[in-house]
Amino acid sequence: MEWEVVIGLETHAELATRTKLWCDCSTEFGAAPNTHTCPICVGMPGVLPVLNRKAFELALRVAFAFKCKVPPRTFFDRKNYYYPDLPKNYQISQNYCNTGTEGHIDIPVNGGSKRVRIHNVHLEEDAGKNIHPERSDADYSLVDLNRAGVPLLEIVTEPDMRGPEEAQAFMETMRRALLYTEVSECHMEQGHLRFEASISLRAPGAAEYGARVEIKNVNSMKAVTSAIEYEIKRQTRILNEGGKVARETRLWDDAAGATGRMRSKEEAQDYRYFPEPDLIPVTIDDEMRARVMAAVPELPLARKRRFIEAFGLPEYDAGVISDDRRTADFFEEALKTYDNPKAVGNWIMNAMLREMKQRGIGIVELKPKPAQVAALAKIASSDRINSPAAQKVFTIMMDTGDDPEEIIRREGLEQTSDSGDILPLVSKAIADNPKAVADFKSGKASAVKFLMGQVMRMARGKANPQVAEKIIQEELGKM
Ligand SMILES: [Zn+2]
Repeated sequence: MEWEVVIGLETHAELATRTKLWCDCSTEFGAAPNTHTCPICVGMPGVLPVLNRKAFELALRVAFAFKCKVPPRTFFDRKNYYYPDLPKNYQISQNYCNTGTEGHIDIPVNGGSKRVRIHNVHLEEDAGKNIHPERSDADYSLVDLNRAGVPLLEIVTEPDMRGPEEAQAFMETMRRALLYTEVSECHMEQGHLRFEASISLRAPGAAEYGARVEIKNVNSMKAVTSAIEYEIKRQTRILNEGGKVARETRLWDDAAGATGRMRSKEEAQDYRYFPEPDLIPVTIDDEMRARVMAAVPELPLARKRRFIEAFGLPEYDAGVISDDRRTADFFEEALKTYDNPKAVGNWIMNAMLREMKQRGIGIVELKPKPAQVAALAKIASSDRINSPAAQKVFTIMMDTGDDPEEIIRREGLEQTSDSGDILPLVSKAIADNPKAVADFKSGKASAVKFLMGQVMRMARGKANPQVAEKIIQEELGKM
């Protein structure tokens, strides 16, 4: 029997602040263990946390970006549990009043888009990291508290996804949205971004959801998708055999490619949430609201759609250019100089992004300015310079950041359409290559291409190819 798959996702994103959520310790990744710590983040008794304003405003920015309802006032709660990487024995989180609720994010599905509802967005502190030695005879584990107290944003969806493809689209869209809003660096290998999935199955058309299985320990998007696929198979088998799926938390084992039982609903801890007495509530006044809202950008999917509809870009081009916010900004800035989206877009996609990749640089290190790339796109669409010369100008722009006009003048790249300049070159090419002439006479069209190559080489790329080809045809015709 076919069952309907129901998936909800939790996104955990470390916020891109310099310091931790309640203290001044650095959030930088990769320091020696326990060097970015102080009495506050290692949970010494008697210390007092102070809220990092920047972290709070980044959380608020995400709530606004996903069109959440934001309360006029919010506060933090204690979530009580013990784990060696949580030195306070409780985590400061939000339970009773989240930063945002009832929002949504649109994800691309089958060429269209689908709205995934966001249940809530809330701010909490990250835990430290337990390190288990790989030696099999080791009878200890180590704890690194550098990550303890790093601001962590949690975004919880409603169970609105209906298959692994939608979950994958959600994760990619979410990652891009968090990069666009500049709230997280989203380096998954550094743990900046983690996802957890909950999966259940139900009979098609059923109103009630089935028993939900939460999956933990998924460290990459690929692992989330694999775990979802595994769970769908496992739950389908249980249901088809007439069994009941237990509501439980399961751990994904990447090496085994399977989930294993971690704890059942009955074993779930009671976190004994209560309002955090050491922190005062936060008032989100009109001034803060306006300031944070002003920092919310258009989200990537909406921008891509606008590039297609307003600029007539093909879907693929719009996707590539809107993928990174700064590239999209660069593109729109360039259009102010030359309002030809297709031509400017081509230069950005085919020349700029390719050269950036080859040189291993990002857009901030890029020497040419948007107006200069636009100017080159404009020159290249006229017949003032030919395509190889335009490419050469672009490479020099990448090296020097000089204006294209200046480079063309300096390098003498302006092409000639003057037959008086081109004819002698054609005559020489024909005189030097009797075999090509013979080929032409025996009907081989490739002979013209060959002679073109000779002429362009002698002209060092500066001959207008259309004019050159016309003259070659004429001269061969006379023979
Ligand atoms: Zn600290």
